[in-house]
Amino acid sequence: MSSIVLFGPPGAGKGTQAERIMVETGLPQVSTGDMLRASVKAGTETGMIAKGFMESGQLVPDSVIIDLIKERILEPDAKNGVMFDGFPRTIPQAEALAEITAVTHVIAIEVPDGKIVERICGRFSCGVCSRVFHDLFNPVGPDGCPCGTLEEKRRADDNESTVMSRLNTYHEQTSPLADWYRSKGIFHSVDGDRAIDKITGDILIALKK
Ligand code: ADP
Ligand code: ADP
Repeated sequence: MSSIVLFGPPGAGKGTQAERIMVETGLPQVSTGDMLRASVKAGTETGMIAKGFMESGQLVPDSVIIDLIKERILEPDAKNGVMFDGFPRTIPQAEALAEITAVTHVIAIEVPDGKIVERICGRFSCGVCSRVFHDLFNPVGPDGCPCGTLEEKRRADDNESTVMSRLNTYHEQTSPLADWYRSKGIFHSVDGDRAIDKITGDILIALKK
């Protein structure tokens, strides 16, 4: 079992690329953000712990995240590996991951901070199929969502003040992971400030290295 990691700041396009890379690699997307939002909605103990951290743009404690991942990785669809989106976000998370599965590629999607707010504030997704859209950059086509039913959903933390706090958290606690993975020789950087399809092409090339 070997896995890949999509790495980058909030709004870099990790989820958008995961949708596309999943089709090419067959690896299921594992988004800790999505798992936490489901836990909050279901009112589980994990959700109750996570809620305040998420609303303020802080990281949820490592122990909570690592337990979620340990459980997720046991699901049958993960037997050949997974594509992590938004995990790991700290060095202790990466160390725990190394004990669970071999990571072959870490793909960093690079987007300048100045572009992040407009990306996040225009983001919405389909509540039925979870596809990610943007008011300006990736709008829903004239026929609606490809799944046939668009139930527009916007995240509570996708607002300007929380974005600034999420970006600070990223620079302070998550970006040091880039050097950690670079030292292991599995880190690949792609320019995320271009058309979505071009980025997908670069990621597929990086995955062959
Ligand atoms: P984005 O894709 O915009 O970066 P996510 O959906 O990945 O946002 O995460 C939303 C929130 O969930 C984060 O701001 C954080 O509070 C929490 N979260 C998600 N993944 C992790 C993680 N690996 N470690 C700690 N907190 C996390
Ligand atoms: P992340 O999972 O890293 O938080 P998303 O994939 O949810 O990021 O993308 C954030 C927002 O930016 C979404 O509204 C998405 O449609 C949009 N987006 C993604 N990739 C691009 C791109 N290359 N150019 C412009 N907008 C993009």
